[in-house]
Amino acid sequence: MSFIYDRPVSNRFPRVGVIGAGQLARMMVAPATALGVDLLLFAQDTHDSGAQITHHVVGDYTNLSQVLDFARQCDVVTFEHELIPLSVIKGLEAEGIKVYPPSSAFVFSQDKAAMREKLASYPAPDSQVISNSAEVKEFPVIAKSISGGYDGRGVWKVDSSAQLEEILNHTTPLLIEELVPFDTEISVMVARSPHGQATSWAPIETVQQDGICIMTITPAQKISAVVAEEAQKLALEIAQSVGVVGVMAVEMFVKGDQLFINELAMRPHNSGHWSIEGSVTSQFEQHLRAILDLPLGSPAMNHKFAVMGNVLGGEKTDMYRPYLHLMARTPTLHFHQYKKDVRPGRKIGHVTACGDDLLHLTQEVQHARDYMSGVIDE
Ligand code: ADP
Repeated sequence: MSFIYDRPVSNRFPRVGVIGAGQLARMMVAPATALGVDLLLFAQDTHDSGAQITHHVVGDYTNLSQVLDFARQCDVVTFEHELIPLSVIKGLEAEGIKVYPPSSAFVFSQDKAAMREKLASYPAPDSQVISNSAEVKEFPVIAKSISGGYDGRGVWKVDSSAQLEEILNHTTPLLIEELVPFDTEISVMVARSPHGQATSWAPIETVQQDGICIMTITPAQKISAVVAEEAQKLALEIAQSVGVVGVMAVEMFVKGDQLFINELAMRPHNSGHWSIEGSVTSQFEQHLRAILDLPLGSPAMNHKFAVMGNVLGGEKTDMYRPYLHLMARTPTLHFHQYKKDVRPGRKIGHVTACGDDLLHLTQEVQHARDYMSGVIDE
């Protein structure tokens, strides 16, 4: 590991260490720069999305001694992915390192079975942990790997005992959930500081395709004002109950007026990307404020609607040239490139449009997303 940046002694601004250097770390750079907060990333590779643009060290996040060397150079440490072993986070805490979210909260975003147990008093799909297919009598059900899944990987709709057995052959134990025939999926983003101050953005509708979120609409349109308020209340209560510090996404299903907690992500989240342009305080700035125990910023929206579209890798490899067409067509569109290698289906960037005309915003976001992915060519 090498460390390339020495701070002058007169610099009284804190240094935030981020374990992980993907696009979330990359998007944290702009607000950190604006606030004068130093960022130091713990990257897997010097070409990682965030490592391309800010100070970083390269190391193995499963190696406690490497992570400790890194953490000792920072005032506070946070994460941008959920893969760091809990033992490493506990190891940092044991050495007196300030780590947010703390391991006592982080476990609930890493371990779906522990999360279900902790949130047993909140509305959620019925669930059980199994290691034997005979334990499930009725199908269909949803089966989930207890940890390590993302973007629908590690989640299966299971129609038969034979299918369940096949999954158990490579993934065991499994979390089995009732299949909720939901009307819509939402995410409520919250932020909480060590002080206990907490804020919530408006609920976000997340539009999924093949297990991947392709678009978000804020505020969520398919739910009533009463359900929206209830969802925000639930998310804030959960933030308090698990003791999260930083930003957290509470993913929920909505069926009629009923809410079901799906899962927690304790970091800035794809469903909150709209907040960069659509909110007074973006999720990335709010995360920094929260982990630094600064007063939180306003989560109010700057516009009536904010629509975000994920750009997934397709045939095109040149992501710069599409600007010519798209910027000319939609001058109000905001672009974010993660500068990751283009691979089919991989999230490589996103676009956001904010304004009053939801239909127009949605059309322009869809068009830009499809044009960049190469699904359409004009
Ligand atoms: P990931 O960790 O990949 O984000 P999720 O738990 O969010 O996994 O599940 C991915 C998707 O699978 C959800 O967005 C939802 O569409 C579907 N899903 C998950 N759990 C259920 C369930 N209990 N009932 C119905 N659909 C579900």
